[in-house]
Amino acid sequence: MENMICQGCGAVIQTSDPDRPGYTPESALDNEPLLCQRCFRLKHYNDIQDVSMTDDDFLSMVGQIRNKKGLVVHLVDIFDVDGTLIKSLPRIVGDKPVVLAANKMDLLPKSTNRNKLTKWLRTAAKEAGLTVEAVYLISSAKGHGMSNLTEAIEHYRRGKDVYIVGTTNVGKSTFINKLIQRTTGAKDVITTSYFPGTTLGFIEIPLDGNSVLIDTPGIVNRKQMAHYVSDSDLKVITPKKEVKPRVYQLNSEQTLYFGGLARIDFIKGERQSFVCYFSNELAIHRTKLENADKLLNEHRGGLLSPPGPETLQKVPELTKHAFRLDKEKTDIVFPGLGWVTLPEGDITVAAHSPKGVQVSLRKSFT
Ligand code: GDP
Repeated sequence: MENMICQGCGAVIQTSDPDRPGYTPESALDNEPLLCQRCFRLKHYNDIQDVSMTDDDFLSMVGQIRNKKGLVVHLVDIFDVDGTLIKSLPRIVGDKPVVLAANKMDLLPKSTNRNKLTKWLRTAAKEAGLTVEAVYLISSAKGHGMSNLTEAIEHYRRGKDVYIVGTTNVGKSTFINKLIQRTTGAKDVITTSYFPGTTLGFIEIPLDGNSVLIDTPGIVNRKQMAHYVSDSDLKVITPKKEVKPRVYQLNSEQTLYFGGLARIDFIKGERQSFVCYFSNELAIHRTKLENADKLLNEHRGGLLSPPGPETLQKVPELTKHAFRLDKEKTDIVFPGLGWVTLPEGDITVAAHSPKGVQVSLRKSFT
């Protein structure tokens, strides 16, 4: 049994525990291609099954590459950089050179200043303790930026193996599928899906006679919003196309709700434009600050949704963080959901997000 690997996700095949990675009924062991039950269902019925894998399992699996030589390509989700940049990466992968690839660029408005964004990503990586050789902006779904990145990979790997590393849901499987298509023309060799935690085990793809490209399991970041919402709500909050910035001219003492999952209060300052970057399908509601709590209590799960009923069972209560901004244009980031850009000026705001999904500030790149 030891050598049997699911050809979809790379998990080691086992027949004893349906809740763990790699489970396959004995009757399916002779199937070609050999897929675990989860990948089989994903492939044939588009149905996602949950498996449990602890963070420790993930870390020890990824830690196996620590002492090997090679290049690390760290994929992050441009829509959730804070939630997907792995701060402990040097600890996990050792001192290999790292190329940072920011995926899902197709979701950002076309007007985004790419130079500014690249610089901003470099700084964000540095602040997280990561020195990167280069930064690439890509869309693995659309194939944008892939040629430049593949050239860079060839250049930086110096004949060695390549490890693709990222948190779950950054688009690692989509990225690798694209790479495979480019090199071999084969389609859908690896499972891809909407839902976090679907890439398990290592998948190796030959690059040349001596080296391979290795897909590592997605590292789970518990602080990602994706872990607190139901699959159907995840579909609403995950942008599928270019995000259209929605602009609200607000006076102080006004509040914006992003569904019922997050909220921003404009506490003090001159009338300002609040530019909101969220999935186009996520409804934004404006209300008076004095009515905001009542609105949430009465309409969370209804007018203010998502959260839908299933998410309401598991999403933590909103907690509040107050910020005073002044000098520069700033983004208030709700990890995994989106962000609000505020102009420079003396502004006090309070941001509310589910407990555990920590709001952060960053210098705006838009
Ligand atoms: P993995 O968990 O990192 O392997 O991520 P997947 O490849 O399964 O992708 C997670 C989700 O992100 C899926 O819904 C993909 O369709 C989506 N996705 C992946 N790459 C892109 C991209 O370049 N642009 C957009 N808009 N979505 C992407």
